[in-house]
Amino acid sequence: MSANPLLSHEGLPAFSEIRADHVEPAVDKILAENRERIEALVSPSDPVSWESFIQPLMTLEDRLERVWSPVSHLNSVANSDALRAAYNNCRPKLSAYATELGQHTGLYAAYRQLAESQEYAAMDASQQKLIDDALRDFRLSGIDLEEQAQARFRTIMQELTALSAKFEENLLDATNAWRIVITDEQELSGLPAIAIEQAKVRAEAEGESGWLFNLEFPSYLAVVTHADHRPLREALYEVFVTRASDQGPHAGRWDNGPVMSELLALRHELAQLLEFDDYADRSLATKMATTPEQVLEFLNDLARRSLPVARRDYREIEHFAREHYGLEALAAWDIAYYAEKLRKHKFDISQEELKPYFPEPRVVAGLFQVVERLYGMRLIPVEGVDVWHPAVRYYRVLGQAGDLRGGVYVDLYARPRKRGGAWMDECVRRFRTRESVRLPVAFVTCNFSSPVGDDPALFSHEEVLTLFHEFGHALHHLLTRVDHPPVAGISGVPWDAVELPSQLMENWCWEEEALGLLSGHYQSGEPLPPELLERMKAARNFQSGMQMVRQLEFALFDFRLHHEYDPAQPTPIYDLLNEVRSQVAVVTPPSYNRFAHGFAHIFAGGYAAGYYSYKWAEVLSSDVFSAFEERGIFDQATGRRFLSSILEKGGSRDPLELFVDFRGREPQIDALLRHSGIVGEEAAA
Ligand code: ZN
Repeated sequence: MSANPLLSHEGLPAFSEIRADHVEPAVDKILAENRERIEALVSPSDPVSWESFIQPLMTLEDRLERVWSPVSHLNSVANSDALRAAYNNCRPKLSAYATELGQHTGLYAAYRQLAESQEYAAMDASQQKLIDDALRDFRLSGIDLEEQAQARFRTIMQELTALSAKFEENLLDATNAWRIVITDEQELSGLPAIAIEQAKVRAEAEGESGWLFNLEFPSYLAVVTHADHRPLREALYEVFVTRASDQGPHAGRWDNGPVMSELLALRHELAQLLEFDDYADRSLATKMATTPEQVLEFLNDLARRSLPVARRDYREIEHFAREHYGLEALAAWDIAYYAEKLRKHKFDISQEELKPYFPEPRVVAGLFQVVERLYGMRLIPVEGVDVWHPAVRYYRVLGQAGDLRGGVYVDLYARPRKRGGAWMDECVRRFRTRESVRLPVAFVTCNFSSPVGDDPALFSHEEVLTLFHEFGHALHHLLTRVDHPPVAGISGVPWDAVELPSQLMENWCWEEEALGLLSGHYQSGEPLPPELLERMKAARNFQSGMQMVRQLEFALFDFRLHHEYDPAQPTPIYDLLNEVRSQVAVVTPPSYNRFAHGFAHIFAGGYAAGYYSYKWAEVLSSDVFSAFEERGIFDQATGRRFLSSILEKGGSRDPLELFVDFRGREPQIDALLRHSGIVGEEAAA
């Protein structure tokens, strides 16, 4: 056992030594020991105090994280069949353990005792928040319920899990059930070369000649955005928007309708068991927003102010399609297509054109300079750190006085056996014990293209935005001053607030002064030409009114569906959707459209009565950035205030208090409307 690198918790993980057969023994050992020690911790003879209860409990959780964090990271970035098997074998064990702790009456009693003790009153805000959050989560897991109600609660939870899985399964089956093979090359007109190539590969894989399109998103999106052949667009649109429903070619076969009704009924019952009015109310128990009325007012206000611009956006497409293509009436399958034509016509800007100006060394150095100018932090490369791939870099984060604040692994390039997308993850969290303070370490993972030959990797502007976004999350995790892991960094931050630091960072990628630091032609060193920047900026807010109201339509539909649910008389889902559309939509889809039957975010994912979070967080980040705009985007005092009010505080206090501490007032939506071009010089004129 002593040779198992996962059980050595000193310093950084020994990635090169971790093998798949280390995983299960390490997880089993820690779970068994933790269970035993937790029972000892809550044995009735123990007096409960922070030192005797919370501190050792955090240490137990930390031991488990130190095993699992490198494993789950390797599973994402350097996968092998053996590792995946080990990872999958451990997941049920970990979730059983988590459920057990969430319903542990001994632990709950100990937390309650502590919350009612004299010691609690003398604790600092972060300690109190940690205890309050824990008690809240215990209550949300039904621990306070009478026996019968608790049994019902468990049954509902299980049924909800099964129903969400069923929803996803139906959607997947319906998606996989349809395909079209094109044999006439003329029908491919307008499609990008890469989409045609992919369609050919798909056809070959199925032993067909020609080009195969299916309902997977890249295939669908390429067709509705680019295919000149209108009947092809219409065909894909119709099957896509009727998947898993009572409409379309497979009507009734994988119909999610009954699943959705049952999900809504059970969520409502669950919320009422916990003494919430409805499921929207329950959802807000863990969010920054406080009341359903506040969320609805927020969404309606945004909608009211965006609608005129959305209508103008729509008329622009309509006019363009008529003038340039002689199209009399736009159908649902024409909108993305003509919008794309209009975008090209107006801006003619491609990510390929921008790439030579964003070579990796310049972008990374520029990012670090932005961080230094804003927060006074320096990132210093460290050689010789044990990593999972030679392309991975490790940096130390130093404060202004040269004090060590943490470390970050940066893994930028796509490669086989690495999961797609970009994300930030915690490697270790800041943790103060009696002996010392352990500093936080982050993983920043992207999937950009790697260097070719002797040239550096060249990034698109979208990739630069992604890197800044993930680094914003990393800074939140790394710069925390909070000593207790459950409320340090991004931990304990509600998810309608957690995107604030990440979205905020993206703003610098649009500012000339910052672009001077992070762009420069990889051959000539010439800065990004102002003319190109102007076009980029103009294209940034293309059709933003329509995009805004579409997101608001989803958010309002989701929230009202859960908030207005009446078990005696459930409103038909599409009656509500149509009502929302009549208020905020500029596009009325055909009556066979069954969008909700494929709305996996809220029926299969975790976004039920939470889809509004996307917009909520954008308001926060825009409003924070407007403080920088007022005083200069590199204003030191503003940067340092954001550092001390928000980044360093992590999840240790209510996010609204932290926001007000930084901004001097509550959030306002004006900056978001201005940044998305909905309200501003042009729109007002
Ligand atoms: Zn994010």
